[in-house]
Amino acid sequence: MKKTIMVDMDEVITEGGFLHLLNEFAGTNYTNDDVDGYYMQDLVPDKDAFFKYFIAHNQYDYCELLPGVVEVLKNLKEYYDIYIGTSYIIKEIPKESGVILLHKHDYLCEKLPFIPVDNYIFINNKSLLNCDIKIDDKLDNLENADVKILFTAYHNKDLSDEYLHSLGVIRANSWFQIKDILLKENSDANSSTKE
Ligand SMILES: [Mg+2]
Repeated sequence: MKKTIMVDMDEVITEGGFLHLLNEFAGTNYTNDDVDGYYMQDLVPDKDAFFKYFIAHNQYDYCELLPGVVEVLKNLKEYYDIYIGTSYIIKEIPKESGVILLHKHDYLCEKLPFIPVDNYIFINNKSLLNCDIKIDDKLDNLENADVKILFTAYHNKDLSDEYLHSLGVIRANSWFQIKDILLKENSDANSSTKE
């Protein structure tokens, strides 16, 4: 049986749409470096007005895939069962967040057509998922995996290698590094079963 991988969507598969809409709303030119912490919405003073604007748009119209993600996922699919594990709930507007699920679903269908729709998991508490491998930019979301890969993003850059090591977490700065980590692990596993 193939091992399972849970891959997060935002800031791992794709990025840019949230900040694009925030800048469009506020008339600003913020970059990821301006974000203090995890939540970009903390940059805007009037969150109610921002989220009214945000929810009337589709952030994925302004998102870009991260370099290498399509090629590496296709490669990994030969050896692993890949699931997309993503939350669609925005904490400030939980009841209005349903439309984000549709936006995510449509984006994944269009951009990653080789991942079966059955393998989309829309979930807020990812620790409920047991997978062999988890790839996420948020540390808490890596719980309950044998291999925990933290994908580098604006809000986790300062976590030291020593700290991550103490938690059993590996950092990956790109999809090319993930390919090195997981395809090497797979060939090691294959050679050990042959012995
Ligand atoms: Mg994420």
